[in-house]
Amino acid sequence: MAIRDYDGPSVECDHCAGHGWVQVRRFGIISGVHEEDCPICCGHGWRPMTDDELADAAEAQEQERIHGEPPVSVQEQYQCATLAKLEHQARAIRKGASA
Ligand SMILES: [Zn+2]
Repeated sequence: MAIRDYDGPSVECDHCAGHGWVQVRRFGIISGVHEEDCPICCGHGWRPMTDDELADAAEAQEQERIHGEPPVSVQEQYQCATLAKLEHQARAIRKGASA
């Protein structure tokens, strides 16, 4: 595939974590760690999404459209619950100390 001309959906290359290069350990005359173009993305740092990933992304988008933004609200609920618990404990400690 001519990746240079590709302008469709793409993802960060997970092989090189988006750097476009990987460290390769070599032995012999050029022994040592070398930075080479990532063989998966050819040094681009990103690669075209596979059909599976496109389907996943579409599904995730659909879920988000239906359910709004549950990750944030769940996290907020958890933080509120933790805060309430801490306040309750602090009150109990103060009560114990003054008695
Ligand atoms: Zn790569």
